[in-house]
Amino acid sequence: MANSHSKIFQTPLEGNKFDPAPEDMIMQTTTIKDEKDRQNWLKNYKPAVYEKMKAYPEKIANGESIAIIQFQYDYLCNMDCEHCCIDKFYVPRAWEEASGRRKFTMDDVRRLSKEADEMGLANFVITGGEPLLLREYDELVEAIDPSKFYLVTDSNGWFLDYKRAVHLKKIGVDKVQLSLDGITAEAHDTFRRKPGAYDRAMRAIDACKEAGLHLILSTVIWKDRIYIESIQTSGSNSWTLPRRRKSAHMLCTRSL
Ligand code: SF4
Repeated sequence: MANSHSKIFQTPLEGNKFDPAPEDMIMQTTTIKDEKDRQNWLKNYKPAVYEKMKAYPEKIANGESIAIIQFQYDYLCNMDCEHCCIDKFYVPRAWEEASGRRKFTMDDVRRLSKEADEMGLANFVITGGEPLLLREYDELVEAIDPSKFYLVTDSNGWFLDYKRAVHLKKIGVDKVQLSLDGITAEAHDTFRRKPGAYDRAMRAIDACKEAGLHLILSTVIWKDRIYIESIQTSGSNSWTLPRRRKSAHMLCTRSL
């Protein structure tokens, strides 16, 4: 896959309405080593986002919000993970009226994007459900307007191969937050209740790195599932536990 970069970047995928960054800029993101480089990359690649982030210290000082928008556009998912309750909320489009639950439209998304931009917010996360399962995913990204936000997509990795990763990069997605819930296939697949999920997640990690997408791993930790020794010997050097999600488990993330 690594040797096919130049060929793929010369062949824009159909249906891509977002003006992609030049090839050398895309490739440049694979060599980012520190925060300064990341800022310079952002300044060149998404200047509007850079300007908003530059204003963050002043906004904080003024008591204004710099919130990250965590947008659950739809709850559709192909997995049934042990800890998840998302299936209780999912309503197919055809059942909207009967259920009394209206789903988001693209006009809603455009309005949300506009209002967030006017508030000076710069970080937008598409979550779910499994966002990459959505047929209208590209339309959703376009409605958000990736030129205005540092755009992250959550994913369980099942639908994320190299070709898709390159496409995500081209339509303006900057980072993938990928779920990884075990350092063995057995642990991950059991928790995700999906045989093959670990192999797909590993494929997704390789795909993101080779396509130049930023990547962060997200691990749900339950009291009964903390294997400190395993984490210590997995080669990780910066595991952190930044926030409590529910009383029984926490979100553990690591950027790659
Ligand atoms: S992949 Fe995510 S949304 Fe889907 S069941 Fe698992 S935790 Fe829930």
